Amino acid sequence: MANINEKICIIGAGPAGLSAAMYLEQKGYFNYTILEKEDHVGGKCHSPHYNGRRYEMGAIMGVPSYYAVHDVEEFCGITHDGPKLNRNYKNLKGKVIEPFEPKKNPLKIPRLLKMRKQLKVFGELLETKYKGYDVNGHRGVAEGRYDGYAVTPDREKISGENPNLKDLALPFKEFCELNGVELVQDIWIGPFTSFGYGYFDEIPAAYVLKYLDFQTTMNFVKVNLWTWKEGTQYIWECLNDKLRNQARLNSDITSVERHDGKVFVTVNDEVEVYDKIIVTAPLQFLPNYFDATEEEKELFSKIDYERYDVLAVETKPENHPEISYYIFDNMTPERYGHLMVYYRRWKDSVDQVITTYALRNHRGKRTYKTSACKKIVLKDLEAMGNAASKVVNEKNWYYFPHVFTEDYAAGWYDKVEAMQGMNGTYYAGEIMSFGDMDETAEYSRELVDRFF
Ligand SMILES: Cc1cc2nc3c(=O)[nH]c(=O)nc-3n(C[C@H](O)[C@H](O)[C@H](O)COP(=O)(O)OP(=O)(O)OC[C@H]3O[C@@H](n4cnc5c(N)ncnc54)[C@H](O)[C@@H]3O)c2cc1C
Repeated sequence: MANINEKICIIGAGPAGLSAAMYLEQKGYFNYTILEKEDHVGGKCHSPHYNGRRYEMGAIMGVPSYYAVHDVEEFCGITHDGPKLNRNYKNLKGKVIEPFEPKKNPLKIPRLLKMRKQLKVFGELLETKYKGYDVNGHRGVAEGRYDGYAVTPDREKISGENPNLKDLALPFKEFCELNGVELVQDIWIGPFTSFGYGYFDEIPAAYVLKYLDFQTTMNFVKVNLWTWKEGTQYIWECLNDKLRNQARLNSDITSVERHDGKVFVTVNDEVEVYDKIIVTAPLQFLPNYFDATEEEKELFSKIDYERYDVLAVETKPENHPEISYYIFDNMTPERYGHLMVYYRRWKDSVDQVITTYALRNHRGKRTYKTSACKKIVLKDLEAMGNAASKVVNEKNWYYFPHVFTEDYAAGWYDKVEAMQGMNGTYYAGEIMSFGDMDETAEYSRELVDRFF
């Protein structure tokens, strides 16, 4: 039985934590507290100001199937009113290319035609052989089941058996090869690898396809995308303002102990007592301040993450790029550490910064230091004809927490899901679904629906 008087602690005021609060509130819960360690809300949705406008150091865009983000927009009375994304492609010499245009790539016609055929086959396979692949979260996948909500505006609850879903534990590259559609990686790689989500030879297909379900990928292809004029951080600032209980910023949580049916949280040196706790902060670090169980320690030690570096740079007007560019040749594991995308957000002015994106790790290879990666990226930018004159901001993100094939296939997610609610503790945030705004917010919606 739901008890709306329960005292609930939410750790983290990013999309997962704030949306959990919104959905709790919509269900009648009002006795919740959001504890945020930083002095601002939004987490990886981070939109600093520059010359009177906001640019993006974190999340940039959404697609029309961002239903949970849309719930937030409705709750706040805002909409996706940002600048249209204009992008093109460059090769390593900085020459503009048209990788998907057969007329401009006569030599590539056979490959492009084959890719189009495979894309059609892939779309059909996802609907049939992999039915249920795109529900939010990973419950049951390793056992060949799906259990969740359809990615449609009405989010119908669906569940069933489908042994083929076990293939989703394979790295995406192997998954494509198994299904004879290896060329579709050319399409998926743009919104996946360049957005910092790792390389297809190491990341399980489940992550790739739950984020980039067929419909979402086609929205990327058609540039049918959402952005926000005041930045993605604004979405979460608005939500925080609208909530009955705003996030408590600068909260330093030093311990969480769970006993006697209560949760004791030491925050800024004071002990606070709660009935339940929802953790949206990285689970990998939970044992550092929780009285973690052996199972929590064991499971959360399996989490890895991407080192995704973003620079905001000024350029001289003559070096300012006309639009944003993708460099496909830099999205392979061999070229880790290199510039994969650079983003010109404000097409109507050259007095704004541009942002650059690079991944500096690959499993099995060494991880570049941030300073080394920065050097490579600035050199690459120069080679593109868009040399930076000054770096005005830089972020090295703890990005896209995930587990690898072995642990995915061994049922990591079902083990963590089975712990939901034990010791009054619930797990949400990126690792539980996927590292984008909507998957995390949607997971919070379902968590509230399932347990509160
Ligand atoms: C460069 C970049 C580009 C991106 N592009 C997109 C995009 O275009 N579209 C998209 O949908 N997504 C994008 N994302 C991903 C998206 O921003 C994240 O998936 C999303 O913000 C995750 O939400 P979250 O609440 O789970 O985690 P986070 O956003 O990381 O929020 C977690 C919050 O918890 C707080 N916290 C952590 N530890 C503690 C603690 N111990 N105590 C208290 N508080 C704590 C953090 O300070 C943070 O505020 C991008 C991210 C980055 C970095």
